[in-house]
Amino acid sequence: MLTLETKVESVNRVGKTIATRLKKIGINTVADMLWHLPVRYDDFSQIKPIADLNIDELTTVRARIELLANRRARHRKLTITEALVNDDSGSLKVVWFNQPYITKTFKIGDDILLAGKVAGDLLGRQMNNPSYEKAQEQTTHTGRLVPIYSSTEKLTQKQLRFIVKSCLPAITQIKDWLPADIRQKYHLLNLREALMQIHFPDDNDNMLDARRRLQFNQIFLLQLQNQLIKNQLAEQTAPAIEFKQKEIKEFVDSLPFQLTPDQKRAGWEIIKDMNSGQPMNRLLNGDVGSGKTVVAALAAYDAIINGYQVALMAPTAILAEQHWQTICKLWPSVPWQYGLITQNQRLIAGQTKAKNISKVAISKALSKGEINFIIGTHALIQKNINFANLGLVIVDEQHRFGVKQRQQLQEQSGDPDTMPHFLSLTATPIPRTLALAIYGNLNISLLKTKPAGRKPIITKLVTDQQRRVTYEFINKQLDAGHQVFVVCPLIDESDKLGVKSVTAEYKHLNEEIFPHRSVALLHGKLKAEDKAKVMADFQANKINILVATSVIEVGVDVPNATIMMIEGADRFGLAQLHQFRGRVGRGDNQAYCFLLSNNNSPRTLERLQTLVRTNDGFALAEADLKQRGAGEFYGDTQSGFMNNLLYQAITNITLVKEAQNAVQDILNDDKKLKKHPLIAKKINQIQNTIHLE
Ligand code: ADP
Ligand code: MG
Repeated sequence: MLTLETKVESVNRVGKTIATRLKKIGINTVADMLWHLPVRYDDFSQIKPIADLNIDELTTVRARIELLANRRARHRKLTITEALVNDDSGSLKVVWFNQPYITKTFKIGDDILLAGKVAGDLLGRQMNNPSYEKAQEQTTHTGRLVPIYSSTEKLTQKQLRFIVKSCLPAITQIKDWLPADIRQKYHLLNLREALMQIHFPDDNDNMLDARRRLQFNQIFLLQLQNQLIKNQLAEQTAPAIEFKQKEIKEFVDSLPFQLTPDQKRAGWEIIKDMNSGQPMNRLLNGDVGSGKTVVAALAAYDAIINGYQVALMAPTAILAEQHWQTICKLWPSVPWQYGLITQNQRLIAGQTKAKNISKVAISKALSKGEINFIIGTHALIQKNINFANLGLVIVDEQHRFGVKQRQQLQEQSGDPDTMPHFLSLTATPIPRTLALAIYGNLNISLLKTKPAGRKPIITKLVTDQQRRVTYEFINKQLDAGHQVFVVCPLIDESDKLGVKSVTAEYKHLNEEIFPHRSVALLHGKLKAEDKAKVMADFQANKINILVATSVIEVGVDVPNATIMMIEGADRFGLAQLHQFRGRVGRGDNQAYCFLLSNNNSPRTLERLQTLVRTNDGFALAEADLKQRGAGEFYGDTQSGFMNNLLYQAITNITLVKEAQNAVQDILNDDKKLKKHPLIAKKINQIQNTIHLE
């Protein structure tokens, strides 16, 4: 019997080859296949008489086969299948390329359905390569809203539809975890019906209902999870960190600049949170260059002078080392110690200048509380690292810090009864609706205004014809002693889409365009120490041009860099492009961002123009969200923790509110989900997959 756990290779007509291809797109079981939802539909629901067909129209025709034959094209290895079909109103020519088996599938006189676009010329109308199937009550490929799935080159839509159809009987085994009363109250389809209709909708309304139910699932679970975390944290205690006004004021006065009003407010919000006795759970959201680091340092300082340890976690070694350097500059000599842990480096400084320290020694110093402030990568969340009294955790620029990690840190913190305070920094501008939906469990401090005196970055779309001029411009900037980033989308040469690969581009720039300059390459596949060396050299201005993939996306701070040139800009989400752009303009000099793209479609150009028009990340996010929904704005790299359905759902404010109410309905008389074991199980599952800050 077909069950949800049945492996795809056991599904009707799925052989080894197809199973392998399915696995490539993450489909191993029947359940995976059923949850591989259509990305869109072709509307072939109208069945039209041949006489009424219009050129260029997408339509379905129901007709009888009059003639059917294969022939070989003369000059190419091409088989052409030609048919003449007719219904009572007229006849139509049909042509298929390289599908000779069609003459075996059908015979003259068969009643068939054809779905496709109608083409036309002087000789009349015809259909080229239409989808086809025998005329029948329940159609799959024609005469309906036909699902289109994300796929790979080698899996056709027809194959996918066929396999999904074969898996449908297993839907009856799916248990709906959402209680019937909630479904009724919010007018939601049951889960089986929704899954059925999302794949093969009876009509457009059914499809929309199905989509609404599935979106509701996502947003409901997300908010429920948020609420549970919030409730859980509210029951926990955290160190009540005293606000030492005099010391904090001295710290602020010692800075080489005045804090902006937003920085002051954020700092104050953090200080209040940490003083409350409950674990702080705060997100510091500020555009690139808005000055988050100093606010974080202020929070750290507050904790340190109260005798607590602070951990600052960065997603990459590069960023961890950069924070290290910032802190070394900020605190050249202080009466406490701070350290750095990455895969390849362990340093300690504070009372003395930075020096190397062994793995064993640094863990020991941490567990004894001799190091007050530790910077590191995720290497910090490990069983072998223990703190004496960890009071504050700061996480920079990433989205992969979940419930599990928090528990882990609590266990390491030195006091299992208290939870460290938690501050998360992000430069991804998050519009309000999104923030409500995604970060319902967090308090948010916004840094909206940038430090005074920053020159807006000049952004330009550059055509291929302007490439020469652009390189000349870059040369002038280099002559003036400045540095340049060149970002490319891919690492490898295997590059069918014409996307610049970073290695090829590096070679081209290094050997042909800028042979007299120092050009370096940076991508994720380099060894950590090589990456660190390249970054250090770039920071020290030993490298003029850094050709890189998106590894330089977040946080990298090289004030002397004035140009960000982005190849294949259309391949990145707007948020990501904005992040790249934020790598320049961090010093006093005028900075530039050049966007290059081979894709000249008006839609792409318009999208990129948005960046030219505005430098304000929040405005950009809001505008883009309104136009297209969150998916496109946040691009591929950030969608790991949120799928498309969720993207669409969170932009639907009504649905967000309804889900919020449903969460309250459930939790009001069942705080711990004791009466809702199915929901509890579901939440458990997503805690392992979705990570929120
Ligand atoms: P981000 O928010 O992108 O992490 P940083 O914290 O790295 O930004 O700050 C960017 C730069 O701005 C740093 O060189 C920092 O020293 C400087 N900076 C921060 N706050 C101010 C301020 N209030 N006035 C002037 N410069 C500031
Ligand atoms: Mg930063």
